[in-house]
Amino acid sequence: MRLFWHQRDLRTRDVVGLSVAARDDTVLPVYVYDADAFGPVGRRHYGFQMRGVRALKERYRELGSDLIVRSGDTATELASLADAVDADAVYYGEHYRPSRRDRQQAVEEQFAGTDVDTEPRTDLVLVDPGRLDASYSTHSQFYGDWERSPKATPYAEPDPDALASVDDGTTVPVPNVDIDLPDAGSAAARERFDEFLDTGIYSYNDTRDDLARAVETPTQAVSRLSPYLAAGMIGIREVWAGASDRYDAVYGRERKNINKYRYELSWREHNYHLLAHNPGLGERNYTTFPNEIAWRDDEAGFEAWTRGETGYPLVDAGMRQLEAEGYIHNRPRQVVASFLTKHLLVDWRRGARQFLEKLVDHDYASNYGNWQWTASTGTDSVDVRIFDPVSQMAKYDAEATYVKSYVPELRDVTADAIVDWPTLTDAKRADLAPDYPDPIVGRNHGYERAQRVFEEALGKR
Ligand SMILES: Cc1cc2nc3c(=O)[nH]c(=O)nc-3n(C[C@H](O)[C@H](O)[C@H](O)COP(=O)(O)OP(=O)(O)OC[C@H]3O[C@@H](n4cnc5c(N)ncnc54)[C@H](O)[C@@H]3O)c2cc1C
Repeated sequence: MRLFWHQRDLRTRDVVGLSVAARDDTVLPVYVYDADAFGPVGRRHYGFQMRGVRALKERYRELGSDLIVRSGDTATELASLADAVDADAVYYGEHYRPSRRDRQQAVEEQFAGTDVDTEPRTDLVLVDPGRLDASYSTHSQFYGDWERSPKATPYAEPDPDALASVDDGTTVPVPNVDIDLPDAGSAAARERFDEFLDTGIYSYNDTRDDLARAVETPTQAVSRLSPYLAAGMIGIREVWAGASDRYDAVYGRERKNINKYRYELSWREHNYHLLAHNPGLGERNYTTFPNEIAWRDDEAGFEAWTRGETGYPLVDAGMRQLEAEGYIHNRPRQVVASFLTKHLLVDWRRGARQFLEKLVDHDYASNYGNWQWTASTGTDSVDVRIFDPVSQMAKYDAEATYVKSYVPELRDVTADAIVDWPTLTDAKRADLAPDYPDPIVGRNHGYERAQRVFEEALGKR
């Protein structure tokens, strides 16, 4: 008998360790609810995960088995279960988040010197971080090596005969959350992906930044797969294979569109690679600066940003989408993060914590990796990148479709005036939309101040 310890891989298909363990022995699947694991995680993500555990349990029951759910200290619970069923090995997928690494280490220590083997497997990524160099300073350097590396193909769901015939009466607790969550579980994930493969991937590159389309057909403009990938409800090999099969079957523009989708997955891989080699990614600047970055202590600005009341329409729409849905489209995600860390000069760690609190798709590596990239403390090839929220809106939401859908105070204002909002006169703004705030920082003032502060930190002034 072997145990398979599920962590953030809430599915039965394309799970490397589960599939390998089930090849020549019986497997008992187990999930340990460890309160410490969820301590720092936002309630929305936690709620989604626990719904995923429930769906996973149902899937095992359909297969004639069950997911054993225990709560308590993971290493102790696994040891007691291994003892009870006389297991000779514990298989699991390796995770890189520091708290999960600590737990994996505790499990390794628990079984060290016993006759129970531990069998960690690379599952989260297409290319094992250990196969690549430890440090790349930019994404393009990473991408070159990553693209050339072989990618694993999907692993099958275990044969039901290989799963232990058990019955576990535990009810998985699912906490209430303050928003509607997407349907959880691997069936919902697969459905979402199939819809995107049929309707969105062939035009992905052309439309991924089109915010009007993101409002009108949200699951076609982009895949909206991130909550499922973050909770491991779909395997990354399955996603890669699904996109690659379509890629191989077409030519020309459609092929370019699909390749862009595969390229975006490389950012996810890069973030895991960064975290695997830099456990401090969520705490310390990745880049070394000769001087301290003079972050500002701007509580009022931070609060206005969290409420979506900065007077910058695209920023406010993004933050209100986050509040309402636990999700932000990637374009405004970059714009809101840049606005906080550059125009307001608030430390990226505060923004990342706010995202952690609110995102359903919260993913430790991608959240901190992207916050660092946007704050110019990460792997961006440009020394100081500052997104201009006005020109970003002019380019990606010129008709104000996205902004109007999240900022009702601006619904009766023309798109041109919304784009120019931060540069209109106070009188004009009061006349057009008296309930919508004035900008909390000047467009040029914020830009120039950030440029100066970062150049000082870089020793260029
Ligand atoms: C400040 C900031 C914080 C972020 N935090 C997270 C996070 O906590 N969790 C998360 O999954 N993504 C995060 N992202 C990345 C990106 O915004 C989301 O992955 C994407 O918007 C999810 O929507 P989608 O699934 O429709 O993406 P699609 O455009 O359909 O892309 C497909 C998949 O590719 C991956 N991907 C695409 N872009 C990125 C990227 N820049 N970094 C990493 N993976 C990427 C995701 O897994 C995504 O689901 C963050 C980006 C920024 C700028």
